[in-house]
Amino acid sequence: MKSIGVIVGSLLMLFLGASAEGQTLVIEVGKVYASPDAKPLSAATILIRDGKIAAIGRHIAVPTDVNILRCAQCAAFAGFWNTHVHFMEPKWGDAAKLPAGQLSNQLREMLTRSGFATVVDTGSDPHATTALRQRIESGEVTGPRIYTAGLPLFPPNALPYYVRDLPPELLSSLPQPKTPAEAAEAVQRNIAAGGDISKLFTGSIVAPNQIVPMPVDIAHAAVTTAHSHHQLVFSHATNLPGVQVALSAGVDVLAHAPEVTDGLSDDLLRQMTQHRMTVIPTLKLFSKDSNIGTIRERMKHFHDMGGALMFGTDTGFLIDYDVGEEYRQLELAGFSPKDVLAMLTTVPARRFGVDRQEGRVEVGMNGDLTVLGGDPIALGSRAMTDVRYTIRRGKVVYDASATP
Ligand SMILES: [Zn+2]
Repeated sequence: MKSIGVIVGSLLMLFLGASAEGQTLVIEVGKVYASPDAKPLSAATILIRDGKIAAIGRHIAVPTDVNILRCAQCAAFAGFWNTHVHFMEPKWGDAAKLPAGQLSNQLREMLTRSGFATVVDTGSDPHATTALRQRIESGEVTGPRIYTAGLPLFPPNALPYYVRDLPPELLSSLPQPKTPAEAAEAVQRNIAAGGDISKLFTGSIVAPNQIVPMPVDIAHAAVTTAHSHHQLVFSHATNLPGVQVALSAGVDVLAHAPEVTDGLSDDLLRQMTQHRMTVIPTLKLFSKDSNIGTIRERMKHFHDMGGALMFGTDTGFLIDYDVGEEYRQLELAGFSPKDVLAMLTTVPARRFGVDRQEGRVEVGMNGDLTVLGGDPIALGSRAMTDVRYTIRRGKVVYDASATP
């Protein structure tokens, strides 16, 4: 017998007009931006077939018997990425068994209602997260594309103070490699468990004012192993020594702006750009810190020097899912709506090496779209919270008009 959750999940998919393989979805909107810098196409139609964008234009032939979404004042962008989330709240622990409808609702509240078609989980129990992902990919659960780091690696005997509330069995499984060989093994275990990226704590906050750096040889072994499997390495660096370890080890992405800003000189920011290091600002996380102004200024300066930034919020660690504060902080830092849209679309697609399939709205690309109720390039970054539809591979994974 089907559980109520499975039935609710199936009804929800029916209700949202799921367009999986072999199906067609048509979207008619006021503006379509191929990329944040492109001139928008007005009053345009986008046709998605078999999960890919098949046509975009003003006068394209549209089949009559298909699902058509119409919104004359809306603006469509490539599907948004949130490159820093976690599936670590207790409600994800039974992702293999929970009713599909419940998981779909949880994913909508946390992610797809904010426009995220793709998310990067930078640390969680890989068994739960890969089960969740598998159920999304099979079409049983409605949600975003998930990349996951599995379990992060920590310096020896230096777990962050704020993870001590995790369930004891998860806490005892957190890798704290003591040698380069152990670090390589920990990365390989994550890859075997389904991990797509690696995450290192190159600066671990063991107490509010005490930060322990990861030994460089351990970080380097982890990075070398991950890179040999063509995986990106993210790091939580925290402060100057943590950034220096990340630079020496060859880390690709800082999962946060370094929150301790002492020593974050222009020279250091230049080294980061020269190493092609990408940074996820996560400004909301630091918005109550006394040095938030300096953090914002350093991120804007890094960007002005040519440094790449990706959008991320640490949602899932932060259990308030509202992303408006992140947009507000990015605006206060001086980023234009186009800058922020690039952080949400083109930059992460390029960093993850999928820019031939994603990050832009063009024929042949994956049918991932975020449709907003107004144009943030005209209205400001805060309009990015007005999400009307989130579409992944031609399937509507969030519809504001169908959501209570
Ligand atoms: Zn995090």
